[in-house]
Amino acid sequence: MFAQVIVDVAAYPVDRPFDYRIPEKLATVVEPGSRVKVPFGPRHVLGYVVGIVSQTDVPPNKIRAINEVLDLEPVINAELLQLSKWLKHETICFEIDALQLMVPSALRAKYEKVAHMRVERPQLDMRLQAIFGTKQTVDVKQFEKAGVLHLLKQAVTAGAVELENIVKQQGKVKTIRMVKVVEDVACLQQIQAHIPAKARKQIQLIEWLIPYAGETLTPAFICDEADVGTTVLHAVLERGAGEFVQQEVYRDPFTKDVAQTTNLQLTDEQDLALLAIQKKLDQQVGHTFLLHGVTGSGKTEIYLQAIEQVLAQGKQAMMLVPEIALTPQMTERFRSRFGDAVAVMHSGLSTGEKYDEWRKIQNGEVQVVVGARSAVFVPFTNIGLIILDEEHESTYKQEDSPRYHARDVAIWRSQYHQCPVILGSATPSLESYARAQKGVYTLLTLSERAKKQSLPAVHVVDLRAELATGNRSMFSTALVEAMRVRLEKNEQIVLFLNRRGYSSFVLCRDCGTVVQCKNCDISLTYHRHQENLKCHYCGYEEHVPSTCPQCTSEHIRYFGTGTQKVEEELHALFPEARVLRMDVDTTSKKGAHEDILEAFGNKEANILLGTQMIAKGLDFPDITLVGVLSADTSLHLPDYRAAEKTYQLLTQVSGRAGRHDKPGQVVIQTYTPEHYAIELAKAQVYAPFYTQEMANRRRSGHPPYYYIALVQISHEDVMLAADYAQQTMYWLQARLPHTVQLLGPTAASISRLQNRYRYQCLIKYKIEPSLIPTLHALISHYRAEWIKQGVQLTIDLDPSMI
Ligand code: ADP
Ligand code: ZN
Ligand code: ZN
Repeated sequence: MFAQVIVDVAAYPVDRPFDYRIPEKLATVVEPGSRVKVPFGPRHVLGYVVGIVSQTDVPPNKIRAINEVLDLEPVINAELLQLSKWLKHETICFEIDALQLMVPSALRAKYEKVAHMRVERPQLDMRLQAIFGTKQTVDVKQFEKAGVLHLLKQAVTAGAVELENIVKQQGKVKTIRMVKVVEDVACLQQIQAHIPAKARKQIQLIEWLIPYAGETLTPAFICDEADVGTTVLHAVLERGAGEFVQQEVYRDPFTKDVAQTTNLQLTDEQDLALLAIQKKLDQQVGHTFLLHGVTGSGKTEIYLQAIEQVLAQGKQAMMLVPEIALTPQMTERFRSRFGDAVAVMHSGLSTGEKYDEWRKIQNGEVQVVVGARSAVFVPFTNIGLIILDEEHESTYKQEDSPRYHARDVAIWRSQYHQCPVILGSATPSLESYARAQKGVYTLLTLSERAKKQSLPAVHVVDLRAELATGNRSMFSTALVEAMRVRLEKNEQIVLFLNRRGYSSFVLCRDCGTVVQCKNCDISLTYHRHQENLKCHYCGYEEHVPSTCPQCTSEHIRYFGTGTQKVEEELHALFPEARVLRMDVDTTSKKGAHEDILEAFGNKEANILLGTQMIAKGLDFPDITLVGVLSADTSLHLPDYRAAEKTYQLLTQVSGRAGRHDKPGQVVIQTYTPEHYAIELAKAQVYAPFYTQEMANRRRSGHPPYYYIALVQISHEDVMLAADYAQQTMYWLQARLPHTVQLLGPTAASISRLQNRYRYQCLIKYKIEPSLIPTLHALISHYRAEWIKQGVQLTIDLDPSMI
């Protein structure tokens, strides 16, 4: 038998299965979805078995055998193997990259280079000998650290040392050392009888152990409870009272316990929505719902009750949330309903924690997963429901290869498992709402808040008028007044700083120079903690200059409306107010999101100040005022979705106010109060916004009227970059029908990144069956011909930004 293996090498000539012979002794273990170690050229690499066949075209003298199987059970099941093939086709990525999505990072390979000593020790250079010590094999890193790589290389050339690449797994199953007490009480008594009387503590310990005969306990528990030291424990174990055993444990990602909750009595609107979902759950068909419910309308309660029914059917449910900042609150609500049946999956977990959550899912020990984008690939085998909350969020789209959208994957899996999908949002994406209008999705509407509270009153402040009256602060008179009132009543305030497409930079006040990355055409972002400047694209860092690099003026300083600056101004305005700040700087530590939200929930602060992270999900009864400091910053970005995103953000953040008994108020500060995105966010109506924005999209030929694909071309040489972009254009023009619009090539919005010049071609199309095959052909052509010339070409079939 032969295994078809996709090897862990992301390169074009390798992007196909390779056949390997399955050795006799592995015949029963190698299955599709198993990870294997295989020889590949001169190296050994990890690979995934994607098929087993009885014949191969590889001649018998050429075929190589699998070295080792890494799993007794396949790590990727049949469904997920099929899904990775689909992803490869739809997003035009390497199959290995698609397969890697299906396993936790702990199972991905780590390659290490080791050096084997092949001669007698004295024949080696003294410095090499010192590093080998008494061992025959040592990690090459040790030689690197000691700065003797050149000596190692000489030894390799001379045949004295051999290098080998070894494949390692990154994550480990965590085990702890436990004590297993012997089962036989008589045996314990006999041991006790033989202990000399002066070893009083040992006798005491056996006495204590007798009721625990046969049980497995932690050494700490025994020593504490029996009041003995570890030497005493070791002594009685040596006498045969028990033994040390290693027990597998799961790392616990949850930091606190939650109180149990039960189902709420649904409102009529909630009830109707749940009934419609229930019908599809009973019919067991793949079907997509768009649950459009205003903020605070109780969408989450519907999710919870629908999942309860899924669990009653003996099936599993996936709950996706857009980002980790939202998972603590959501996870808590889920755990309070479903207890230990819930696993979490997000980037805030350690590699080991993620691996353990994944194993719980793989072993069928949990039925519900709450997680961010990548959780859409969890290995559930009997899915009954998939939910994407805040479905309009751009974080559901992965920007790197594989450039997939979690919504598409969710719908694919719902077809496979014949189960419903719920897309939930107060501000659905135009694409989803348009599909619901056409009847592709079923629209479910919640038009009122769950407890019939009115939506908050929204007040828009024109910052131009404010400036005209001489107010140069970040706070308008109206906002300061509203805040003063809440502080007096001891109610809570959320202040939102819209920083999308906006960062703190360093500017020279004399010549206007903004310090830029030396590799990219992008200004560097200021980080106060380290007092340095960082490029968010390539990672380049430098110290904040004390004089302007252009004109040497000393008037160069940090600029931009960072949250820290707002915080300082707040303290000057309201010295007695307690402020919590939530942004990238204050949440870099693990669990920091949770701590900040918990503190705010406990009313340890009057004001929560933050960026995008606080726009969604917050549900606290005492928030009665939401202030948006600058509504426009996201409005003028070169992005066809700029108005949609601004509208969504303003609606979401406004929705944090007055969700419970106390009425809420929102103050939006802006330089463009007449913009429809702001006017309609103020009016808190979705349909008129949808109509207006759709008219604009139709006029400009943007999604959802057209689909867009983006081809980006980059090269270190600006002329060559432009030239290959032009060639790409000709290549596509020759192969695509005239109904497909080709635009460009133009310089990309970030025209240089990591010292590569970037151009792009835009493809607009409606329904075009030849598009994907043509793009696959383009990428093959590029990989076969252009890549050698130093060109890089990427294709994104659903770009977020163009
Ligand atoms: P959404 O997810 O739509 O923004 P939530 O599910 O967070 O709304 O609900 C908002 C608030 O209303 C929450 O505090 C929730 O507990 C409460 N709630 C939801 N449904 C009901 C109901 N049927 N009866 C009473 N309170 C409800
Ligand atoms: Zn200057
Ligand atoms: Zn850079």
